[in-house]
Amino acid sequence: MKIIKSNKSIIIILCLLLLFLFETYAYAVTYWQPQPKPYIYSRSAWGARSPSSSMSSRGTGYYLIFHHTARSFTSTDKSACAAEIREIQNIHMDENKWSDIGYHYIIDPAGRIWQGRLDQYIGAHTLSYNNNIGIANLGDFEGFFGIGANTPTTASYNAMCSLSKWLAYRDNLDLPIAYCHKDFNDTACPGRNMEYYIWDSLRGHLYLNMVER
Ligand SMILES: [Zn+2]
Repeated sequence: MKIIKSNKSIIIILCLLLLFLFETYAYAVTYWQPQPKPYIYSRSAWGARSPSSSMSSRGTGYYLIFHHTARSFTSTDKSACAAEIREIQNIHMDENKWSDIGYHYIIDPAGRIWQGRLDQYIGAHTLSYNNNIGIANLGDFEGFFGIGANTPTTASYNAMCSLSKWLAYRDNLDLPIAYCHKDFNDTACPGRNMEYYIWDSLRGHLYLNMVER
């Protein structure tokens, strides 16, 4: 009689354990491990012009859309990078007639991250998808006929990872979040030498930084 009673208890305990495991599995959610904010050079650090007109708010929930600036560029010199970003802003504002530089963030070959258009505003980087965050790498990663194309540096790839993880953590974004401009528009951007880093390396890296609970 005593043995039967203890068997019953074991069965009840096992059932409760199974129920607990099922509940845990059924309600498992992914979340971001805390990510430190990478150092981001301010607009004044590159000598940004003020926006020429007001811009709309971007809203919440977004993808990270990666671009290249399509201008061959390999310098790691800080002042040369700042000058290149100023030139891109001039093209965007004076030739394209946009309110400000189109990208929200710019990454240079030394792995510096620079603030472009403030990210609370709609960007000008991906037709019909400008409510997402635009991140541009300085350089031409496509190259005409494969000649003269730049390749991402280890430092610039690491900067893409740290910026992406921090934004995803800050705004609690759901995967997948990293896309190439060519995923949305008919363009070569961000270039054949860059796209693999977004679609494979960066996406894989981001996945590894989410955990279930
Ligand atoms: Zn682009």
